Amino acid sequence: MPERVPCYAGVIVDIAHADVDHVFTYRIPQRMQVTRGTRVGIPFGHRTTEGLVVGITDEPGIELGKIKDLIGPLEDYPAVLPQLMDLAEEMRAQAHCPLAATLRLMLPAQMRGGRVKVKTEKFAQLTVQGEALETARKAQSRSPKRKLLLDLLADGQARPVSELAVLVRTPLDGLRVLEEQGAVCVFDREVLRSPYPEDGAREEDPQLTPPQQEVLEELLPAVRAGKGKFLLYGVTGSGKTEVYIRAVRECLKLGKGAIVLVPEIVLTPQMVTWFRARFGDVAAVLHSRLSAGERFDEWRRIRMGGARVVIGARSAVFAPVDNLGILIVDEEHEGSYLSEHTPAYDAREVAFSRANREGAALLLASATPSVLSFARAARGDMMLLEMASRVNDRPMPEVTLVDMREELRLGNKGIFSDALVRGLTDCLDQGQQAMLFLNRRGYAPSVMCRKCGHTMGCPACDVSLTYHAQDRSLHCHYCGLIEPVPRACPACGSAYIRTVGIGTQRVEEEVTKLFPGVPLVRMDNDTTQGKDGHRKLLNQFRSGQARVMVGTQMIAKGLDFPQVTLVGAVLADVSVNLPDYRSPERTFQLLTQMAGRAGRADLPGQVIIQTYRPEHYAIAAAAQQDYRSFYEMEFARRRRDLYPPFTMMVRLLCQARDEAVARAVSGQLLEHINELFVKEPQLRRRMLFIREDDAPIKRLMGRARAQVLMKLLVHKDSDRIIAHLNDLSRRSWSCDVVLEIDPASMA
Ligand code: ADP
Ligand code: ZN
Ligand code: ZN
Repeated sequence: MPERVPCYAGVIVDIAHADVDHVFTYRIPQRMQVTRGTRVGIPFGHRTTEGLVVGITDEPGIELGKIKDLIGPLEDYPAVLPQLMDLAEEMRAQAHCPLAATLRLMLPAQMRGGRVKVKTEKFAQLTVQGEALETARKAQSRSPKRKLLLDLLADGQARPVSELAVLVRTPLDGLRVLEEQGAVCVFDREVLRSPYPEDGAREEDPQLTPPQQEVLEELLPAVRAGKGKFLLYGVTGSGKTEVYIRAVRECLKLGKGAIVLVPEIVLTPQMVTWFRARFGDVAAVLHSRLSAGERFDEWRRIRMGGARVVIGARSAVFAPVDNLGILIVDEEHEGSYLSEHTPAYDAREVAFSRANREGAALLLASATPSVLSFARAARGDMMLLEMASRVNDRPMPEVTLVDMREELRLGNKGIFSDALVRGLTDCLDQGQQAMLFLNRRGYAPSVMCRKCGHTMGCPACDVSLTYHAQDRSLHCHYCGLIEPVPRACPACGSAYIRTVGIGTQRVEEEVTKLFPGVPLVRMDNDTTQGKDGHRKLLNQFRSGQARVMVGTQMIAKGLDFPQVTLVGAVLADVSVNLPDYRSPERTFQLLTQMAGRAGRADLPGQVIIQTYRPEHYAIAAAAQQDYRSFYEMEFARRRRDLYPPFTMMVRLLCQARDEAVARAVSGQLLEHINELFVKEPQLRRRMLFIREDDAPIKRLMGRARAQVLMKLLVHKDSDRIIAHLNDLSRRSWSCDVVLEIDPASMA
């Protein structure tokens, strides 16, 4: 037999830690099956470690004597699919980061370093039947326990030993004896950890509404053809989920898979329930609140092809679905699709790229599409699909704006306007449910000195501390610090210290005062800790046990409660005032989504928005529920003031213990950038401004933050500037430097 040509594998070592791009060469021993994407054990220095094969070659490229053999594959399948290897390489080129960093996205974290194992359970099964079984039973005359065990196994099926233990004390002893006698075998079987506590019955498909039908007439041919990009603008309650379900069903018919991204899966348990109800075990979920074992097992079900439909948060865009038919991004306007960790990515962009690469259709959907996506659709990069009315012609909720300045003038100093109190009274009198939203961002209750105006702040972060009525103390929402409220002002010594602002707890107190005995649930960061925190509260409300839900913007998204007829936005303005060019967009989205929770079933809905700025265009457009006119105004403003999509906001963020160090580095960065412009003056024209300064949040988790902030025109020259900034950020500085392009938060 001719000797096989020796084959070599290029391996990235220990991708959990390596931030080097170095590829090591190993020999693949004969008969060992290893392909690109396989995880392997390798000798490394004096130890053995894990690596990932990134290429196979016949040309070792280094001296043969130095090459060691691979120990062997860690799994009998490549953990990273070839198309995801390609995606990792593309992302690495774009993010200018090591390949190890993007490959890491493709594997469940717990898989690296073998921190989770396949779970096995002991099973027992009869090895005899008929005559032989009778003989075996007779042989147990002195042990009723063993006889019972044989009876329990009589149907010949394998039973988990844990199940037998419910009826028989310590069954394993008995089973071992039976095993010796040759009547039973005991063995380990792999079991999957399942994150579905309450799968309901399988459900039938409803009759599609005409708009759903029309949308699917565009979408299904695209799924079949394996291409096509769509933006679905469908008002709240138009039945977007049913569209997803039908598109996914088409994929399954074609033998293809699907990925459905949702902003935060703990907040959209309904999506999972609905998908499990229609698709059963073919649907899998991936999100961060699964246990390590559950996550690993769900990932393996997907990788092995048992689960073909994946519902998950941002990182599920990397799910190992082979032969992908469609990628769906629900609530595509949500900020949570941007990952701020390195390598930073936008799940929508990754979805675009995967759809192109793998011949899948792409569907972005929202009732309030992001300005960027809508502009893209307007430009023709995506086809715009529209569902302009609610299912079964249910009316959109009626929205009232209440001017809180007027309330004050009329002598109402409370946090609820007369209109909202009346609305609540009617709603509760009629046995219906209400939701009250507090846009918490920037408006959390804080503690202030009335004499000098000093606000209690976190010593480690440059933010005010938030007052929590529950434990009467001050919390930092950035670093977790908890402090008692001081007796005297640390700045002036005055004892005149008061809380200002309102929190969800305050809203809860007011509701209880006005409507004693009405059961209420409050959903905010404090009440929803733990794996099941959200689900329990949502269920209390869904079952009708609670009549009012009070919460932060976390409850504005996607939820479908048929009995909710009143929605109140306790204060709409806050997010408008934040110093970020996206504030109007976020405010519009938030208010429109909140309003969309009302009147989703047979009962019509009413929405009351309390505001100090009813004339603001974002608030007025939300009250009209007029996405298009908001979009037109916002797009015009962005063009006039040169914001994205006309420009890019780019910054180099420097973080150090010491403020002086951070500022020194940001100063040096500025100099380097200016040098570039001296060398290549034509680039300068693409830069609208550059500023070196403290970041808006000057201190975070004990680290000082400085920045070089730039606004660049969208132009190919700007790509050169960014490449240069990237190189700069990766040099060794005396503090942390990261490059951010249109980051989710500019704080
Ligand atoms: P959206 O995500 O567009 O806000 P949902 O997908 O949550 O809307 O659907 C709103 C409600 O309408 C849900 O209760 C859903 O079960 C119901 N629904 C959707 N499509 C249909 C249909 N074709 N027939 C009857 N009810 C439907
Ligand atoms: Zn802090
Ligand atoms: Zn003071």
